[in-house]
Amino acid sequence: MAPVSLNGPRVAVIGGGLSGIAFANRLLSHRRDLSPGLRVTLFDTGARALGGRCSSKSLKLTSQGTYARWDHALSYVAASEPRFLQIVDDWVNAGLAEYEDPTRVVALDVDKQLVVPGDASRKVAVATGEGWHELCERWVDPDVRVVRPAWVARMSRTAGERWLLGGSDVPGDETTFDYVVISHNGKCAARLIKSSEGAAGVAVEKSVQCAFSARPREQLAKQRRLILSSIWSVGVAFPAGAVNAPFDSAHVSGGDGVLAYAKRNKQDVDGVEVWSLLSTAEYGKANKVPQERVPRAKGAEVTNALLDSFALALRASGGSLDESAEILSSKYQLWGAALPLTVTRESHLLDLSTRVGVCGDWMGTGDARSPSAQSAVLSGEALADAVAANLASDDSKGARYVKWRTATASATALGDILLV
Ligand SMILES: Cc1cc2nc3c(=O)[nH]c(=O)nc-3n(C[C@H](O)[C@H](O)[C@H](O)COP(=O)(O)OP(=O)(O)OC[C@H]3O[C@@H](n4cnc5c(N)ncnc54)[C@H](O)[C@@H]3O)c2cc1C
Repeated sequence: MAPVSLNGPRVAVIGGGLSGIAFANRLLSHRRDLSPGLRVTLFDTGARALGGRCSSKSLKLTSQGTYARWDHALSYVAASEPRFLQIVDDWVNAGLAEYEDPTRVVALDVDKQLVVPGDASRKVAVATGEGWHELCERWVDPDVRVVRPAWVARMSRTAGERWLLGGSDVPGDETTFDYVVISHNGKCAARLIKSSEGAAGVAVEKSVQCAFSARPREQLAKQRRLILSSIWSVGVAFPAGAVNAPFDSAHVSGGDGVLAYAKRNKQDVDGVEVWSLLSTAEYGKANKVPQERVPRAKGAEVTNALLDSFALALRASGGSLDESAEILSSKYQLWGAALPLTVTRESHLLDLSTRVGVCGDWMGTGDARSPSAQSAVLSGEALADAVAANLASDDSKGARYVKWRTATASATALGDILLV
């Protein structure tokens, strides 16, 4: 392997979600022991902000002349690992997040009409302000060079054994790197590795191969690659009081199989409550359409199905939905690559011979098998520590093949992603 760049190692991170930001922040925290010249560049597609699936949107409230916050993917984080707990504490201390009552995060079995309150000892937190993307923007170390919106479409080797990146909005002065970190998954990651024409190493190439499915658990156990699910997300603004619920978040099972999760969003607008309704992976698969061009009729159909399922779940919980209340605003979104149904046994992958690393929520940490904010952050940090160790030792041999296992049972139905 060629020595790293003369002025200090240059590291590219492709993907500005939680794992990519955690990687960048953590690697820079090693700067003093490594080289003060260390430079980390983070590329992300986000036109509005960093964050990826850690992001919030807004619903237009025409009659109020304002916008309400809608958490269209991640709603809250649950910390079970000490290191992640420390990070969440930092977010809370910095005013980026606040803790919520964990007992209000319930498991709701619609068929049994059973509501199980969340464990009081768990720490769960939600983003403050405009939401999750704002937290990401404020969390990223100011010394990380953020390039967005940028789409990295190609990676190739230079004669000097560095990585050359190309794509839309990838500036010419920021294209060669000693290390490349891929902190996104799905078909984009597979295509990017393919563009390197084998130079990225077989272990990396195999680890990013993926398929989309909502298979039963016993079939998932046989899968030796990343299986991703698709999930519909609907945000609905009701007049305050229209929803009578004995919970703030419910992981739903049973019933009509449409709704997997419902969450009352943190809200600054008076007189309004916004709920995020997420579908099961099975419903997502059965109702999949091109996510960039969702036909309006499909959007309306999905919104109605999730609202009906929500009303059913509320009744089963002893609560109710005032169906005569006017819906103030609603939006829908299909997350094509929503949640991984399989996860690796390793926290990250680093191919030392080519200096390509991979991290993300689908890379397991210890016994935790839930793809979540926690696993994304811990995977990014683990990879950063591995890159720092490699920079210190300059070892250039080895890359383990990742081994696969199914995500926790409930994660396959979105359900317990937080009950890690
Ligand atoms: C509907 C839904 C609800 C969820 N709810 C919760 C929850 O309540 N709690 C929880 O803990 N977790 C939840 N999760 C999971 C959580 O959101 C993810 O585990 C976590 O955000 C993943 O972070 P990541 O960095 O691994 O990936 P991502 O967030 O996907 O980040 C990858 C980034 O890379 C970018 N990118 C991709 N390709 C390129 C390219 N070629 N060039 C440049 N950039 C690129 C993407 O645009 C994206 O911004 C939820 C997920 C979904 C979909």
